[in-house]
Amino acid sequence: MATLFGKIVRREIPADIVYEDDQVLAFRDINPQAPQHILIIPKREDIPTLDDAKDSDGPLLGHRLLTAQKLARELGIAESGYRLIMNCREEGGQTVYHLHLHLLGGRQMLGF
Ligand code: AMP
Repeated sequence: MATLFGKIVRREIPADIVYEDDQVLAFRDINPQAPQHILIIPKREDIPTLDDAKDSDGPLLGHRLLTAQKLARELGIAESGYRLIMNCREEGGQTVYHLHLHLLGGRQMLGF
C-alpha cells in the first residue's frame, strides 16, 4: 500500500533528501528528535514493517545498515556516536507503514 514515504520516493511530495542509490533513499525527518535525524528507507514499497521482511530481503536490510554507517560518517557523528531505531507496528511506535530506519545523532542519547 502506498504511503507518504512512497510519495517521497516518487518525488510526489518534497523531502530534504541526503542520499539516494538504486535501493535506498535517505532524507531528514520532518520532526527531528536530534540535531541529525535521518530516515533511511528502501525504495521498494512492499515492506511495510520489519515483520514483513523475508530472508531474501537480507541484502537490502544489510545495505540499509551500511548506508546508515556511511551517512553517520558524512554527517560527522560516527566518532561521537549515534543511535539507530526501527519501530515495528503499533506498540513499537510505528506510524508510517513503509519500512524505515531512524539515524539519530548530534546529542547525547539517553536510556529508554
Ligand atoms: P515511525 O514513528 O517510526 O513510523 O517514524 C515515522 C517518522 O516519519 C516520524 O519520525 C515522522 O516525524 C516522520 N515523518 C512523517 N512525515 C514525514 C515527511 N513528510 N517527511 C519526513 N519525515 C516525515
